[in-house]
Amino acid sequence: FLPHLVASMEQVDQTYIMIKPDGVQRGLVGEIISRFEKKGFLLKGLKLFECTKELAEEHYKDLREKPFFPKLIDYITSGPVVCMAWEGVGVVASARKLIGATNPLQAEPGTIRGDLAIQTGSFSEVVFALGLLKPCKESHSYGKLSCRNVVHGSDSPENGLREIELWFKEGELCQWTQIQAPWLRE
Ligand code: UDP
Ligand code: MG
Repeated sequence: FLPHLVASMEQVDQTYIMIKPDGVQRGLVGEIISRFEKKGFLLKGLKLFECTKELAEEHYKDLREKPFFPKLIDYITSGPVVCMAWEGVGVVASARKLIGATNPLQAEPGTIRGDLAIQTGSFSEVVFALGLLKPCKESHSYGKLSCRNVVHGSDSPENGLREIELWFKEGELCQWTQIQAPWLRE
């Protein structure tokens, strides 16, 4: 009774979910959208989009100092992405669970990354840590894209709102009521 009551009082959050270029290239758009849709979340915004380097850098600004940052920006700007805004009770944490661990090799079966991806690619923390491969511009010559894990999900409700605002313009989000809403939540 009590957990049920507490859950029903939980806040409705929004999260920014993005199918990354490898997800689009590999024809996984429908499959990935479907997982969020079936869970019951409310889709507020959806578009296929080619982002600029500036937007990708702003999105990932907290990772600016990481050795893989240039590779991550190369990857995100390598082709179209699918931008989505989803709403729901506990949607941020729930979406992270549906997505799974950052490294697909460690992601549990049943999660998007666990089911649909294998390796992030030529970038390897171990390789950087051992100093075998220099990060930044030189690493571009290694060609193959890195950081591949098919999907992004915001890591906090604050970042959910920040990222939706960053990727969507005014008028691109819809306010609507799901017919199934009463079957899903209090
Ligand atoms: N990334 C990676 N290897 C790492 C850490 C990050 O390839 O060890 C890439 C990957 O694409 C990841 C993104 O950088 O999704 C952002 O990193 P973050 O730690 O925010 O992971 P996420 O929140 O996406 O799970
Ligand atoms: Mg993150």
